[in-house]
Amino acid sequence: MEPGRYLCGPCSSHNAPGKPLDGVLECVFEGRPERGSIPLPVEHRFFPHIPVGHTPLWEPVRLRAELGFPGLFLKDDTREPSGSFKDRASVLVAAFAREHGIGEIALASTGNAASSMACIGAAAGIKIKVFLPKSAPIAKRIQVLQYGAELVEIDGNYDLAFDTCVEYTTQTGVLSRNTALNPLTIEGKKTASYEIVHALDRMSQGRPDHVFVPTGDGVIIAGIYRGFEDLLATGEIAAMPTIWAAQAEGSSGIARALSTGVFETRPSSTIADSISVDAPRNGPFALAKLKKHGGRAVTVGDAEILEAQLLASSRAGLFVEPSSAAALAGFVKVRGEIGRDEKVVVLLTGSGLKDIRNAARAVGVEA
Ligand SMILES: *Cc1c(COP(=O)(O)O)cnc(C)c1O
Repeated sequence: MEPGRYLCGPCSSHNAPGKPLDGVLECVFEGRPERGSIPLPVEHRFFPHIPVGHTPLWEPVRLRAELGFPGLFLKDDTREPSGSFKDRASVLVAAFAREHGIGEIALASTGNAASSMACIGAAAGIKIKVFLPKSAPIAKRIQVLQYGAELVEIDGNYDLAFDTCVEYTTQTGVLSRNTALNPLTIEGKKTASYEIVHALDRMSQGRPDHVFVPTGDGVIIAGIYRGFEDLLATGEIAAMPTIWAAQAEGSSGIARALSTGVFETRPSSTIADSISVDAPRNGPFALAKLKKHGGRAVTVGDAEILEAQLLASSRAGLFVEPSSAAALAGFVKVRGEIGRDEKVVVLLTGSGLKDIRNAARAVGVEA
């Protein structure tokens, strides 16, 4: 990837503000992936010194018993340095910046990508500028400022923040970490698939049959597919697991497109801010992967999300933010379609401490 080049020119020529992106690039490696190593597009020596990834895979015994699924696992990315899965992408973008001597990175975010890039930027010594809707949860905004990033508050939604940031990076030439637009945001996220397969291997638990992924813009799910595609190519897995895009009913662009074939922009409305997008920016890419590999989608309402959040907290001891709870809620909803002996992994992408307002209400406290 050259700095400053993002989308494929011809494919993206008709892209419009506030719409899913066509022409999102995919990292391609020469030769076959090697067993046992994770191919990444930046050499290891450029990675900043901060411990990203290698998060635990939980065996939630009480939750398993309650739901009747002995093969249920929780991939706990609440433990990332900034408290969310986004660190997997941020660390790769920071490594790329270091490789190319780039001193500033800008991005738009609903909150977690911003706090993540600010966190990694602090460790790497890179200037970070973030465009964040005013409505972003307070903890995520405080994180951004604590880590020392520049915060531009947008009087509007995430979609407006995204387009404002694209304008800024186009005009200034600053490196963009906008999700989907920068292909490294997809590539960095594939590491989770490797960790899932390797952890199950160490536990002699075989291979994952189902993976539930909380989905907004569709970058995490695309990254998860990238990882499993590599693992298929090396023969480390024999078949692609069924990947489920778990979306909020009030922000379900990818789920709708999977059944109708087209993306329509609709104002989003859900308590799960991290997966609340009007237009899924990586929609076309994610949809292509879902179709190619027989992926599925499930949508859940805010009440189901809050129930699942309480379920993970009170039965597993894992307090997650609403977006992640949506993935668990998705599994709870469709579990009747899944065999009791199958291996199911639910990706829990963000810490519950990042957005306590609704969680507080669920336990009868005003926060
Ligand atoms: C960003 C985010 C998601 C959704 O990822 P997309 O790539 O937008 O689909 C899910 N959970 C958390 C905690 C996130 O921060």
